[in-house]
Amino acid sequence: MSHYALVPAAGSGARMGGEMPKQYLPLAGRPMIWHALAALCATPAIRKVFVVLSPEDTYWPLAAMAALGDKLVVLRCGGETRAASVANGLREMAARIDGNGDEWVLVHDAARPCLTVAMVETLIAAVGEDDAGGILAMPVADTLKKAFEREEDVPPRIAHTVPREGLWQAQTPQMFRRRMLLEALDFAPQVTDEASAIEALGLKPRLVEGEIGNLKVTWPRDLQLAELILASREQHA
Ligand code: C5P
Repeated sequence: MSHYALVPAAGSGARMGGEMPKQYLPLAGRPMIWHALAALCATPAIRKVFVVLSPEDTYWPLAAMAALGDKLVVLRCGGETRAASVANGLREMAARIDGNGDEWVLVHDAARPCLTVAMVETLIAAVGEDDAGGILAMPVADTLKKAFEREEDVPPRIAHTVPREGLWQAQTPQMFRRRMLLEALDFAPQVTDEASAIEALGLKPRLVEGEIGNLKVTWPRDLQLAELILASREQHA
């Protein structure tokens, strides 16, 4: 069965501040998005890597990306939300692949630059041909607190403790069959990840244990952590 990757990269990354969309911020000598695309392109099981940009994107670093080879395909069809960007990408990629809708699509955030080939292969192997698909995720290790609403500049108070038993943090890639994922996103367009849309159809995707290093860069401090993770891999390579 064939596998494809789809990387939504049409967000502005407002929480990072700054003018440049966060996926293009410099990280370990390259634009952030390069790192995840490089891992996906280097995974032998992945046939093509589709990246979804905003139609108005002026930052795409063509020269830096050329070295990733012809597995990489740029689609300029980003939408208002992440879910819309993914749905548009799933529609556009249909014309460029040879498939009936049963092919697997691994959706991965441009903002998770520390992805490795091994993580991608773990997900593909664990999901196999399970029609509900699956996602990389981490069991929650910390005790979780629900906070009261924050007032001005003082720290919020604890409302109650949320039992962490059975709780997982969702990561990406999230792997589903292309036609099913498109149906799910049309049915539940308000979701913040693909698995939520599949769950809305009544299916139960698998939670495949990933690695803590597959962090999402949301705030400026995350960039430093991602830089350290990438640098430590260089040293051990
Ligand atoms: O902003 P956030 O970190 O949740 O975005 C997750 C991913 O979704 C990023 O790769 C971002 O570029 C992408 N996205 C998108 N289209 C949007 C909003 C976010 O492709 N309208």
